[in-house]
Amino acid sequence: MNIAMIAHDKKKDDMITLAIAYGEILSKHKIFATGTTGRLISEATGLKINCFKSGPLGGDQQIGARVADNKIDLVLFMRDPLTAQPHEPDVSALLRLCDVHNIPLATNLASSEIMLLALRRGDLDWRKLVNPEG
Ligand code: PGA
Repeated sequence: MNIAMIAHDKKKDDMITLAIAYGEILSKHKIFATGTTGRLISEATGLKINCFKSGPLGGDQQIGARVADNKIDLVLFMRDPLTAQPHEPDVSALLRLCDVHNIPLATNLASSEIMLLALRRGDLDWRKLVNPEG
């Protein structure tokens, strides 16, 4: 499966904690991430990450484009709801596209953990059946 990972600055520690705790699951999948998030995860875990541009420079939109093309199966997006983001329109657009295309989306640490546990159990495999090209 293709998994996209994004974390706002104050949530990057949460994302790294998640990536370390669930590195074994993540290592079985293809991981995409916005620039800084991807670099930090890679440094902390050694996982191979396909990095896009930094979020404020267009990385969220690059991931959104792949969601629109059905090339992303799961989005783990650690949002910071307490800090204004200069690229809020891009954030909203990505969340919207996940809903348009029915892509599983977690927006905090708790829901990300549940998604990864579901992924390990194979509960997300129906996406492969629906979209074998994905
Ligand atoms: P970053 O982008 O991983 O490059 O920091 C995340 C974001 O703010 O969207």
